[in-house]
Amino acid sequence: MAGDKLPGLREERPSIYADQARAGFAKLRFRPDIEAEFSEYFSSIHVTRVRFTLPVAAALTLLFILTDHLRLPTEVVSTTYGARILQLSGLILVWWVLRQDRRDLLQPAVAICLLIFGLSIPFILGKINTANFQSPIHALSVLMVVCYFMAGLRFRHAALLAVAITLPYPLSQLFFDQALPNLVLNTFFLLIFNALGLSGAWFIEFTARENFLNRQQLNELARFDSLTGLPNRRVLLSDLQQLSRQAKRDQVPYAFAMIDVDHFKAYNDEYGHLAGDVCLQQLAGVFQNAAQRPLDTAGRYGGEEFALIWYSSSPDQTLDLAEKLRLDVMALDIKQAQHAQEDVITVSIGVCLCSPEQEHSEEQIIAIADAALYESKANGRNKVVIREYSKAELE
Ligand code: GH3
Ligand code: MG
Ligand code: MG
Repeated sequence: MAGDKLPGLREERPSIYADQARAGFAKLRFRPDIEAEFSEYFSSIHVTRVRFTLPVAAALTLLFILTDHLRLPTEVVSTTYGARILQLSGLILVWWVLRQDRRDLLQPAVAICLLIFGLSIPFILGKINTANFQSPIHALSVLMVVCYFMAGLRFRHAALLAVAITLPYPLSQLFFDQALPNLVLNTFFLLIFNALGLSGAWFIEFTARENFLNRQQLNELARFDSLTGLPNRRVLLSDLQQLSRQAKRDQVPYAFAMIDVDHFKAYNDEYGHLAGDVCLQQLAGVFQNAAQRPLDTAGRYGGEEFALIWYSSSPDQTLDLAEKLRLDVMALDIKQAQHAQEDVITVSIGVCLCSPEQEHSEEQIIAIADAALYESKANGRNKVVIREYSKAELE
């Protein structure tokens, strides 16, 4: 059977985000580690949304105050001043949290602000109603729209809040003696707004979660090699740049190793390209194991070339690490093609040692490691060659 030929080939780099997308998230919950990342992402969207919504909410509040002043006698309007001041304080609270850039406080601040509106609007409506003026529920309906669609709250927070905003209306209006048929009709409309808002808010969060998973998967594609699962050349080079700066600050030596599989073309020719892929995956496991400390990196440089950064590694330690790596590859015992010089797959390794006393250019580090690798190939392959970093032009 064709499938039995290459049992070792992994399909693709496993991705927790792809797994989550496949598992679904209709309950608007990811597994805990992804959920934490999503919360970060969501609060960054939330900030943008609140920045947009806050002036709109302030303008609407002022508009409502103005229309009350225009259509109602001053003695009626004056009974609502306290509630209006509370509403404006809620908006100021959100504005202050935005100004302080306190993302952690933004959801609670928005919720408090909406709650103030939710409790004060029925009070204002009741006051207007007891003065025998019509008190339609426009303001509450607008508040529902803001709560579900514009405030950027998580679905379950928006739903809880909407309940907290809806309930006080019928209760308070009973207290203010509103005519029952009017009250029933208004409450009925509020419930319909709630139902529409709930479904809309669910879709908004679902889409935000979908976008987040897509974004993370694209990010992984851009950073990792899909065959071996190791970081790609771009990540390697950016890590090298960062670690080079950090090593200077920490005053520690580090090493950059280029690794090339010996006679890999012969291996491919003899066993086929897919077997070559399995072999690269096995080798990647060894390279990954050789970069165990937190600041070490192993990556795929391209083709059958890999690279390793050993942080805080002295020349002696580096030589040991590189020798161990070479022997670990041999210990995989992958049968090499007949025409190659060794019976098993081997690698040649070229290392550039970087001491903390010097400034290093990444291009020069790579050029030196590459020259060392070339030397190891020229010396008969399956060798480690180590060179100190030097600014001098390479011959
Ligand atoms: P040397 O010892 O001098 O490095 O010889 P070599 O045969 O390894 O070097 P050469 O550059 O001639 O061949 C490299 C081979 O690596 C050829 C290419 O098909 C193979 N290769 C590169 N990337 C992949 C890959 O992703 N999968 C497989 N199966 N082969 C690959
Ligand atoms: Mg090569
Ligand atoms: Mg090679």
